[in-house]
Amino acid sequence: MKNTFHPVETSPGKLSIVATPIGNLEDITLRALRILKECDVIYAEDTRVIAKLLQRYEIQKPLQRLDAATEGKKVGEVLRRLEAGERVVYVSDAGTPGISDPGSRLVAAVRASSQNVVIEAIPGPSALAALVSIAGVDMTQFTFLGFLPHKKGRQTALRTIATMLDGAQGSMPVMLYESPHRILKLLSEIVEVLPECRVTIGRELTKMHEEVLQGTPQELIALLESDPNHQRGEFVVIIERVQ
Ligand code: SAM
Repeated sequence: MKNTFHPVETSPGKLSIVATPIGNLEDITLRALRILKECDVIYAEDTRVIAKLLQRYEIQKPLQRLDAATEGKKVGEVLRRLEAGERVVYVSDAGTPGISDPGSRLVAAVRASSQNVVIEAIPGPSALAALVSIAGVDMTQFTFLGFLPHKKGRQTALRTIATMLDGAQGSMPVMLYESPHRILKLLSEIVEVLPECRVTIGRELTKMHEEVLQGTPQELIALLESDPNHQRGEFVVIIERVQ
């Protein structure tokens, strides 16, 4: 009898990088929900955060933690799953993975190690895009710097921003992420280097207390100090030169 060799066909594994809400749990795309329902495992920056979203949409999946500290260590495990044909999802705590969040090292490692894996983006919310859409600032071009360094390098970063905005006419707005603990500090630092600029703050975007505040840094300091509620939550900041 003739011996025929049938190679075992494994379907290629798939890594889906899924954007999740930045506050309002309704901000999840139909495609993201389908991918979360169909995947074999979800790797998450914080499994408790994704668990709330999954509970809301009645999805049950095995969860694994993969945060900034473990991103390097967990790559091998994710690669083995992908090579075995599994559908793996990665989600960060909020918004789009890779934007001031883990995800890019995982994607780079998978891209470098495996020919037989599909990597797909499941786009959705991001705090920076949310503020761009309602700031009323010309953001045709802008510079996004994420979080400024907390200590070393912060003053240099602020001076660089000042130089960028103080330059020629038409300089691009600069966008930053900032935490509630440092928002007043940031505004005071901006007063030092760019007292005449206009600042737009997006606070608690997509949440119950969403607000957009706009003014000179000194005006915003006065506003935030007048009511500590304005200092709570999460912040995106746009700094622009006024013509
Ligand atoms: N990956 C996220 C994204 O796509 O926007 C950003 C993650 S970064 C670790 C978290 C920062 O994003 C917060 O400190 C804050 O500056 C900003 N942020 C996240 N959610 C926000 C919200 N609902 N309103 C305002 N800023 C938000």
